[in-house]
Amino acid sequence: MPEPSRPYVPADTVTPERDINHQHFRPGDPVIIVKGIAGGELWGEAMTVVTPSWHTPTEEDGWRLRNPQGGTQTYITAHPRYMIHTSRLCRDCLHHQRALEDRILPRITPTSGPVDGGWYSVTLLNQLVHADDLRSPR
Ligand SMILES: [Zn+2]
Repeated sequence: MPEPSRPYVPADTVTPERDINHQHFRPGDPVIIVKGIAGGELWGEAMTVVTPSWHTPTEEDGWRLRNPQGGTQTYITAHPRYMIHTSRLCRDCLHHQRALEDRILPRITPTSGPVDGGWYSVTLLNQLVHADDLRSPR
């Protein structure tokens, strides 16, 4: 029996397909990592880009991010394709966000609170890793 308190959130198949340069981001950039849904919208965590950092799960260049609400995980390392600019008008990030919305939102039942889609996990070394990158290391 499905749990009524845990609404269905489809898998994020958009982020793994995203093609973006490491240099697209710079220290100080505010970004969001979209992790699920809230209401009828995408939901994520707002963070600030700190400094370049090696992303071990993908063995590619990543970014160290600061999450003001992060608690023990205040600093995590993310792959650039996980990140979406929130401050400046950025066509690439906007395009990616729209693609996520188009793929995810039509398939959800609107919820009242945020629901984590389970798309990401954090390793013991505070590396944020997408479920797709866990399955198929690049
Ligand atoms: Zn951008």
